[in-house]
Amino acid sequence: MTTQKTENPTSAPPAPPTTSPPASPPAPPTTSPPAPPITSPPVPPTTSPPAPPTTSPPASPPAPPTTSPPASPPAPPITSPPVPPTTSPPVPLTTFATVLPTTMSDTISTVLNKVWGGTHKDTYVLLSKIGPYKLFSSDFARICPGQELESEVINAYLHLMVNNYNRNHQEKARVIDSFEMSRIWLKKSSRLKIDPEKFKIIVGIVNESHHWMLVVIYPLEKRTVFLNSLGESQKDVKRCLEATRAFMRSKGMKVSRWKCETVTHAIQQDMVSCGVFALKFAECILENKDLNFPSTAEAVKTMRLDISSTLLSESESVENLCRHCGSEDKGHLWIACDRCNWWYHQDCINFKQTNTDYCCEMCL
Ligand SMILES: [Zn+2]
Ligand SMILES: [Zn+2]
Repeated sequence: MTTQKTENPTSAPPAPPTTSPPASPPAPPTTSPPAPPITSPPVPPTTSPPAPPTTSPPASPPAPPTTSPPASPPAPPITSPPVPPTTSPPVPLTTFATVLPTTMSDTISTVLNKVWGGTHKDTYVLLSKIGPYKLFSSDFARICPGQELESEVINAYLHLMVNNYNRNHQEKARVIDSFEMSRIWLKKSSRLKIDPEKFKIIVGIVNESHHWMLVVIYPLEKRTVFLNSLGESQKDVKRCLEATRAFMRSKGMKVSRWKCETVTHAIQQDMVSCGVFALKFAECILENKDLNFPSTAEAVKTMRLDISSTLLSESESVENLCRHCGSEDKGHLWIACDRCNWWYHQDCINFKQTNTDYCCEMCL
């Protein structure tokens, strides 16, 4: 069944049928001919949902991540004593979590089962939007155990944590994205417009040689905390001090008595979870929690699940965006997947008019 339109998808999904089970594929329309190609310019968004063919309502669409109630985040394992580094085995690189916690919402566990289970790890479908960051299924595949987090996930999660902090505190926090933070780390001149003294805390995650490390700047206290999940050398701490001094000086701060230090923290046991640790460190610092959290393979898997489910459940609405390209360009024909009712630009998915059924990559 084809549903096409030239306007944006609206927020109200078509009413699901009450008797059709969600899994059964929709019957092809028998009386409605396919809508002819539309030549008029796109119509501005209306308030009514795109009308499905009247003879065969679509199968009940699974709710997109944004409309599901957020999964209650598992409590971080901060109360357990830290596990000594030497007793924890490294995370096997091939571990895929196909069985997810039963507390997770259906939509989120369905998505993660597909993306983490390996069947959909190469699909490219928009799953979440956090501020300026758009996260696709391929980004979520990189949160799976054994994988290295990439910058979009790092920045989106930091953005969320800082927003949460700012909702709950009068003194503000600020995030510096990983690209800018990595420039600062290299002592390149920063294009960032920021008045550091307006913030109690500034967090940024540096990437150097595929390794993520956390920098936390306290401008009013004139100090920086540097955390490397593999442990910090004196050289690294000195380098962080020099980089933050150069950055703060360029923003008009006096830096002669600036300090850089590190604190004791959990140590990464594998070769790939530095991004997970950097995010967890940032979370612990912003939420005033113990940095000596368990770092076993199982604990890291839980952190990865937390990051994934938070990024899915906290997503802004993506109903107006093409699930393939992530844009809301209106000058296109659109089509909805018959199973999940997510919308796509026809051009983006190379949809041919002769084929009247469409099942999107995530539902295949
Ligand atoms: Zn598109
Ligand atoms: Zn679909």
